[in-house]
Amino acid sequence: MQERKLKENLKKENILNFTKEEFESRFDKKFRVKQIFEWIYQKYADDFSQMSSLPKELRQDLSRHYHFSPLECVKFEQSKDKSIKYLFRLNDGLLIESVLLPMKEEQSDENGKITKHARYTICVSSQVGCKSGCSFCLTAKGGLKRNLEAGEIVGQILWIKKHNQIPYERRVNIVYMGMGEPLDNLKNVSKAVKILSENDTLAISPKRQTISTSGLAKQIAELGQMKLGVLLAISLHAVNDELRSELMPINKAYNIKAIMDAVRAFPIDQRKRVMFEYLLIDGLNDGLDHAKELVKLLNGIKAKVNLILFNPHEGSIYKRPSLENAVKFQDFLSAKGLTCTIRESKGLDISAACGQLKERSLVKMS
Ligand code: SF4
Repeated sequence: MQERKLKENLKKENILNFTKEEFESRFDKKFRVKQIFEWIYQKYADDFSQMSSLPKELRQDLSRHYHFSPLECVKFEQSKDKSIKYLFRLNDGLLIESVLLPMKEEQSDENGKITKHARYTICVSSQVGCKSGCSFCLTAKGGLKRNLEAGEIVGQILWIKKHNQIPYERRVNIVYMGMGEPLDNLKNVSKAVKILSENDTLAISPKRQTISTSGLAKQIAELGQMKLGVLLAISLHAVNDELRSELMPINKAYNIKAIMDAVRAFPIDQRKRVMFEYLLIDGLNDGLDHAKELVKLLNGIKAKVNLILFNPHEGSIYKRPSLENAVKFQDFLSAKGLTCTIRESKGLDISAACGQLKERSLVKMS
């Protein structure tokens, strides 16, 4: 039954691929689009038949030509720290994953009245697989299968908000940091940013959306020219080209200097910083000499460094660093005036490293 529905969807257009303006161009009465979008993005409808403010004929017509369910959840795992990792099947059967990261818990006063709402970050995939080939990454092993459409990216956020009953008006942060290299799919990622930020969809400001890249300098420049207002994160992971090329082959095409030049030219809100992700790997890049080099590299950039403790997967040749070394690394950067955090290992017990849930499920299903 479910399979039949997926096949049917393949013949229809996905509404989540449309900006409001694009969809309006298909209607004589533009206000209908506002109504349809409200049902989808704000009232979390499951089906056109629920859209009671639309005439019956229009609902039937819509369901003949369109759908708004580009994915179905096949599996999810909740970690002890409450982060949830989802495995989604796309309409053509391919698998991707997303993660919901609760950042702050809800707080209430003595009368039970909520004083502060919970805050969430959703980490989304931008491609099925990836061709960047980072040596520490499980996703890299299967290569690139295809780019996600904008609506498949939007669909991950919509599905997660809806199924966790996160109300429409509760803002979430988005990080394009799941499977894939977002800037290798810039056309659809930038469209997803636009769709998500529209008032009649989920109204997630671009300032709450962070695009993370392995360092495609040319596309960083293109993204900057688009002036979307998104935040930028660079997966740096090494401070010299030799080690970086070993960890991330993409460094042979765009070396550290090329990336830094692109970052310096990137338009960023005065109050914001460029995030540098630095994966600490035991004995490889976690020494104080590396920290010293990192300070030099980031000189003059409004940067924030996010240290991530490598999360080993089966067969991995790299090891997790000691917390002690990570703290020393962090202290060194902080003493030099850099904002630096050690990322909590959210979801460590649920295989949170990119690609692991998918790989394990494939093993299970085959
Ligand atoms: S770490 Fe990211 S960019 Fe590198 S191979 Fe994995 S998914 Fe691609």
